[in-house]
Amino acid sequence: MKENSDSEIRDMLKASKLYCTEVRIAILKVLMKTEKPLSQEQIASHLGTKSFDKVTIYRTLESLLKIGLVHKAFIEKRAWHYELAHNCTESQCHPHFTCTSCGNTHCLTEISLPMAESPHKGFIIQRQQVRLEGLCPACA
Ligand SMILES: [Zn+2]
Ligand SMILES: [Zn+2]
Repeated sequence: MKENSDSEIRDMLKASKLYCTEVRIAILKVLMKTEKPLSQEQIASHLGTKSFDKVTIYRTLESLLKIGLVHKAFIEKRAWHYELAHNCTESQCHPHFTCTSCGNTHCLTEISLPMAESPHKGFIIQRQQVRLEGLCPACA
């Protein structure tokens, strides 16, 4: 299984014309494994023993963002949370569900909401991000 995700990540990077550096592969692997948005700090702690410094992680995330392999899901506790871009389009990310009881956030990749329409002339909607709140199955 491990080799599978490795080659998948290498293919993703190659398709995006990015070199397969150790840190890029490591970060994408973390995001692929956790399947939920993580802050830079959480990514760093998942990287564990393979400790890359903060600047390296930040720059790597920026380069992955730029080519669209990763996107910013939402801000929580004043930190952006990053995730794999899945099937998200440039204008719309899947909704995120946050449990008001345990605080866990889930990606609702199976839902796609209609894009909001611009309310007035002069407003151009470029991206829609939806956050839902309620109780997760464990807390309901
Ligand atoms: Zn919960
Ligand atoms: Zn998500």
